[in-house]
Amino acid sequence: MGIISNRISREELRPGDHIYAYRHWHTYSHHGIYVGDGLVIHFNATKDPNDPKISSSSRESPCGKCGHDPNTKRGVLRTCIDCFLKDHHLLRFEYGVSPLHFKFKQKGTCSTECCYSNEETVDLATKIFNKDEVHGKGFGDYDVLDNNCENFASYCKTGKRVSEQALKAMGIAAISFKTDTPSSSTSKTAMVLSLFSSKSS
Ligand SMILES: [Zn+2]
Repeated sequence: MGIISNRISREELRPGDHIYAYRHWHTYSHHGIYVGDGLVIHFNATKDPNDPKISSSSRESPCGKCGHDPNTKRGVLRTCIDCFLKDHHLLRFEYGVSPLHFKFKQKGTCSTECCYSNEETVDLATKIFNKDEVHGKGFGDYDVLDNNCENFASYCKTGKRVSEQALKAMGIAAISFKTDTPSSSTSKTAMVLSLFSSKSS
């Protein structure tokens, strides 16, 4: 891991690591907290299992390893790392990097922020997953801009809900906006949503 890539092997994983994996040709990254024993706690978009748009033929089977059922209504999940990665490369988010390092890295891969200890991070992620007395609503409703998987992982590491990829997407949308014709009815939110295409899972 370093200035070029944050890719790590599974042997390098430590409980409390903020990990992520790119999806959809690098247009989107999914983030979570590794909590040990091959398990990851991560925040996902909710999906109503009774949604008529999900045909029975498109329903995915539950994971044979951790039992995670992709069709259930979701939010904060604890799944095996295979369910988290979905065959994509394992990457570790870096904290406490120098401003120079941060400047040269792709956004959404590192932060200059200090972070909690790995033990504190596992504890916080687990409390949210278990909906303890402080986190009775888990991590709330998923929102691609304001409350996504990266916000969740960032919160577990620093207490701050940061999502660099949402900020980046909003920046791209803002630039596109400037070139829009006045008659364009495309909303900023719709553009950002399209950038995330089929978001988390
Ligand atoms: Zn699984």
